[in-house]
Amino acid sequence: MSSAGVKTKGQLCHGVSRMDEPCDEPGQRFCERCGLWFCRSHFPDPEWHPCAPEQGES
Ligand SMILES: [Zn+2]
Ligand SMILES: [Zn+2]
Repeated sequence: MSSAGVKTKGQLCHGVSRMDEPCDEPGQRFCERCGLWFCRSHFPDPEWHPCAPEQGES
């Protein structure tokens, strides 16, 4: 297994659900509106990302 001393570079997902669950996925998308990082699955999810862009985004 990987060594415990190595931490993921960069940001973690800052998404927090309504249940106040944290997400420990690596943040892969940065939102300039709220200045937070989100993982791929939470970036477009309004339950985790209050200012998620609308799904019509090209
Ligand atoms: Zn945002
Ligand atoms: Zn996440």
